[in-house]
Amino acid sequence: MIKRNANFSKLAGGYLFPEVAKRRREFQQKHPDAKVISLGIGNTTEPIPPHITKAMVDYAAGLGTKEGYSGYGDEQGLTELREKIAKVVYGGKVNADEVFVSDGAKCDIARIQILFGRKARVAVQNPAYPVYVDGSVISGAAKRRGDDGYNDITYLPCTAENDFFPDLTAIKKNSIIYFCSPNNPTGKASTREQLQSLVNYAIEKECFIIYDNAYFAFIRDEKLPKTIFEIEGAKKCAIEINSFSKLAGFTGVRLGWSVIPSELKFHCGSSVKQDWNRIMTTLFNGASNIAQAGGLACLDEEGIKETKELVDYYLENAAIMKKALEGENFASKGVQVYFTGDSPYLWVKFPGKKSWDVFDQILEQCNVVTTPGSGFGAAGESFIRFSAFGHRQDVEEACRRLANFKI
Ligand code: PLP
Repeated sequence: MIKRNANFSKLAGGYLFPEVAKRRREFQQKHPDAKVISLGIGNTTEPIPPHITKAMVDYAAGLGTKEGYSGYGDEQGLTELREKIAKVVYGGKVNADEVFVSDGAKCDIARIQILFGRKARVAVQNPAYPVYVDGSVISGAAKRRGDDGYNDITYLPCTAENDFFPDLTAIKKNSIIYFCSPNNPTGKASTREQLQSLVNYAIEKECFIIYDNAYFAFIRDEKLPKTIFEIEGAKKCAIEINSFSKLAGFTGVRLGWSVIPSELKFHCGSSVKQDWNRIMTTLFNGASNIAQAGGLACLDEEGIKETKELVDYYLENAAIMKKALEGENFASKGVQVYFTGDSPYLWVKFPGKKSWDVFDQILEQCNVVTTPGSGFGAAGESFIRFSAFGHRQDVEEACRRLANFKI
């Protein structure tokens, strides 16, 4: 018989969101008439705007004609889209040949593990989007120090006390640092100074940063950098992973990209971009051509306007939720709401409580699904993540129910 990949037995419990879904299902079975509202999973809810949708519809219709048909394209993505991403998103700070179009950020985070091999040292923010840790464990980074000789994972606590920016000195030399900003789940968008210190540290300690920028479109504070490549020295140490999912509601369409600077070199001096190109051309066969047509439309004048309005809608949801969560019933119990207006997530601390207990309480009393902070890492204990992805009427209804929540 074939032996199971032993790394799977090192994964901690189930993946967070299936557990949230299971509890919701069980609740709904017990209370079939309850109208449950989800402010939990970070899935988009609003329609893709018309100009962008039309580009995809037209492209799809073209596929049914001799003139409009296209088969496999370049695995790295349409040249026109790579050029547009370089120009529009990065203002020319990166070159088109450093941009690799993909089927989404999560898939790139998974593939990136192949780039470094299974003995790579890993550092992650704590709490963090679960894919960095679980993906690293599946690909062989041991979960416990010294476990079967592989390198362990360094967890970097991000708490209210440190402004949700970690103590970098805990990161070991030659680590792959997964760093997400604006952060899921804390909602924290790191400042220029913070990111400069991260880049400086990475260069000094010969680390690479995998910068997950999936929420860049939510940054509204003009002082905050919108990409790691605004930071001096980043091209020597950083890879950026990005996505159309939250920018344009492409969570189901599937389109993302990575940026691997030409300057980025391994210890031996060989090019990281060259190996990434090899991975993308060998293990990936290009993003959907329909999705890429939509991506192009997102980045023209009309598309930029539409995506901004779409993101603004979610940010307004977040502002409505912030107000509700700062209500007297929460404030009197010492509940702290962390939200700066640059992310779709509100990170809310319930002092002295366990995250899953608060999750169950909110589900029972308000019939609202949230996400327990502890599911993102130990430093998320006592927190709940509220997601602003939802229809306005649902968000308003959820807020009305939360106004009566008894902690
Ligand atoms: N990165 C972060 C931090 C996310 O929160 C998500 C999705 O929620 C992703 C990546 C996944 O993005 P994509 O839909 O492009 O795979």
